[in-house]
Amino acid sequence: MYSDLAGKVAVVTGGSKGIGNAISRRLAEEKMAVVINYHSDREQAEQTAEELKKAGGDAVAIQADVGSEQGIQALLDAAEQHFGGLDVWVNNAGMENRVPTHEMSLKEWEQVINVNLTGVFLGARAAINHFLKHQKKGNIINMSSVHERIPWPTFAHYAASKGGVKLFSETIALEYAKRGIRVNSIAPGAIETPINAEKFADPQQRQSTLEMIPINSIGKPEEVAAAAAWLASSESSYVTGTTLFVDGGMSLYSEFEEGKG
Ligand code: NAD
Repeated sequence: MYSDLAGKVAVVTGGSKGIGNAISRRLAEEKMAVVINYHSDREQAEQTAEELKKAGGDAVAIQADVGSEQGIQALLDAAEQHFGGLDVWVNNAGMENRVPTHEMSLKEWEQVINVNLTGVFLGARAAINHFLKHQKKGNIINMSSVHERIPWPTFAHYAASKGGVKLFSETIALEYAKRGIRVNSIAPGAIETPINAEKFADPQQRQSTLEMIPINSIGKPEEVAAAAAWLASSESSYVTGTTLFVDGGMSLYSEFEEGKG
């Protein structure tokens, strides 16, 4: 538990399921008030907000498309109107789909870039403006991926978006550090969520993924949420502009294990 988080306000995009849902739950456990953003999954988002309120927390579910300025404004408005301000903004929403690059339509490219990269820009911009206006030491956490570092054939739009998130986060961390705003990314490896449920349901695909993870297990959303809570808290007060890999060692070039190469 991080006692400094109690009473603070967070927005978590894409919070109805997967990693975003675990982050919403963890921040509510830390006694933060949480705006849980959903895109289409209203029932799950509202159910989560109800559960968190019953458990003594504070949460509200808000529909918004993170790729639109109106959507992001609606989330900021909700934080201000329901909870009186904003302290932590988590840009978690994301999407992926497998397409060989030579067959990728412009629409497919734009969809992924719009949610995964433009959505992060819009969310960060709204949060920074709020922090500057209220002279607040704000905190922004962006969900990247091991694919901000590792190329991923047939997911070129996804890898490009996450590579973009890396340098965007580093740039704004530098740009606003003197004004007390911290910005960090989290790079999950393979985490058990709806985004890859189909893949991990196939024992062969699950095994081939496991072979790429030195720790030899698929990650849980709660393990990513723990990293988010730490980055949100003052325990990480000297950390900005970094990417925290939560990947069981996936980004450590496991082919080199046992001195190969
Ligand atoms: P998920 O599919 O369970 O959740 C993604 C969420 O984003 C969903 O709630 C979805 O509704 C939301 N979303 C998509 N488009 C949106 C839009 N336009 N507006 C608002 N919300 C939108 O997937 P997840 O695994 O929980 O992914 C969360 C984040 O973590 C993503 O950014 C993803 O790229 C990243 N990530 C996940 C893994 C993994 O293995 N699961 C690995 C690396 C990075």
